[in-house]
Amino acid sequence: MEPTTVNCSKNLTRHLVVAFILALANAATVHHVYSMDRPNIVVIMADDLGYGDVSCNGATTIMTPNIDRIAREGRRFTSGYCSASTCTPTRYSFLTGTYAFRKRGTGIAPPNGPAIIPPNTVTIASQLKQAGYRTAVVGKWHLGLGDGQGPDWNGELVPGPLEIGFDHCFLLPTTNDRVPQVYVSDHRVVGLNPNDPLWVGDQKPSADHPTGMTHRHTLKINWSHGHNATIHNGISRIGFYTGGTTARFRDEDLADAWVKHSEAWIQQELQQPFFLFFASHDLHVPRAVHERFQGTTNMGPRGDAIAELDWSVGELLNILDRHSLTESTLVIFCSDNGPVLDDGYQDEAIEKLGDHRPSGPYKGGKYNVFEGGTRTPFLTRWPGRIQPGLSDELICTVDLAASLSVLTGVPIPDDACLDSQNVIGVLLGQNDSAGRDHLIQQDNGQSGNFGFRAGKWKLVRCDSGRASNVNLRLVSTELPKYQLFDLDSDPGETRDLIQEYPDQAEQMKRQLEGLIGAGRSRR
Ligand code: CA
Repeated sequence: MEPTTVNCSKNLTRHLVVAFILALANAATVHHVYSMDRPNIVVIMADDLGYGDVSCNGATTIMTPNIDRIAREGRRFTSGYCSASTCTPTRYSFLTGTYAFRKRGTGIAPPNGPAIIPPNTVTIASQLKQAGYRTAVVGKWHLGLGDGQGPDWNGELVPGPLEIGFDHCFLLPTTNDRVPQVYVSDHRVVGLNPNDPLWVGDQKPSADHPTGMTHRHTLKINWSHGHNATIHNGISRIGFYTGGTTARFRDEDLADAWVKHSEAWIQQELQQPFFLFFASHDLHVPRAVHERFQGTTNMGPRGDAIAELDWSVGELLNILDRHSLTESTLVIFCSDNGPVLDDGYQDEAIEKLGDHRPSGPYKGGKYNVFEGGTRTPFLTRWPGRIQPGLSDELICTVDLAASLSVLTGVPIPDDACLDSQNVIGVLLGQNDSAGRDHLIQQDNGQSGNFGFRAGKWKLVRCDSGRASNVNLRLVSTELPKYQLFDLDSDPGETRDLIQEYPDQAEQMKRQLEGLIGAGRSRR
């Protein structure tokens, strides 16, 4: 009996050892997938900045030395996209990791729009907070505030960013061409006098309320279409408001405010890793830059706004340098949609364009699903960790939620971030063949217009039969329901190949319909 017992004992020991080794291997695998790496993370999102608007992507009429610094010290992506060609849906999908077309009401948010992202939604911010980060958003929000009744401007602005994972916010609550022109800090409008309450509405509050229509002669920036309701700071806007006089900002001071507030917040968060979503309002209309940037380019206010944006980027990099945070911070630079010239104000964006190509070699821009609408500047920098260089891999702002979750070791619940792909290897330049297989591009939403890129192929689906800003002019262009382009040989989407490659087109139509119908694309 004794030898058998010994053999059993040996077998048992061997089994335990094997099991232990397997467990270690398994743990190592898990550790590899969700490695704990916690740099500070700064996502800088520009507004309406086109692929060709930065000198690191080939602009020569305007120079962007600070944005170029990120490119030089990090990685520059030639196929980096935002997910939509307008502000609100790209911001929605960046935060939630889910394509905006999957949720109704994610188009351009009105001044009194309620919070679009429900409280406790899993977001890039809540994921990073769970990973031990302090989290803040500074700058343009444009994702609605308040419950179903909309924002209570004189009370608590709940829910908002703090209910979806941000510890702090300092906001332009809507967007600068929409009312009201006030800052919001956490749950409150800043500097509000209770005796002068802020009222915001979509109807003229009184018969004698001055507007861009009645007092056009007083405007310092004239409107070209829309944007002719309440006047503040010599600029008429979309929507009406009264009161809140002490709380109102000057458009010219926004860039300084974002930078100053960001540094103050970073300074108080030095004990923990931090995530800052820096959402610049530049170069969205009205392009009313600080006086020190006015006339600094040959391109009028649109060019000056690029200069102001570039300055903001430089200041953020300087803040990291000053606080010895450069080596421990992952900086990601992107845009929320492609370019537009005349977006409602007469600011010489067309007249002074010259040879500048805001979309670079691409067609279209803001409001449409051609490449210029969503293929935008995309850069990453993390000195010592990211090998500087160029990448053609396909990545999108919707991927940042999953990618940063993997980086920081907090798995995403299966029912969240439904379209966010893990491309962290590509973002860090460590695995340069792990980009997306395909990407769905949308416009403002619910039009049924989609761009669908898979490898070199691009299918343009246009259910509405028309699109705006195709030639960087806000006119409506009629389009066939489907077009097919080969982006390798024709990056400018000039030759529709749908007749030559009907099988390719059919296969992509079916794949696009499948991905839309499936309700998710994250595996
Ligand atoms: Ca925008």
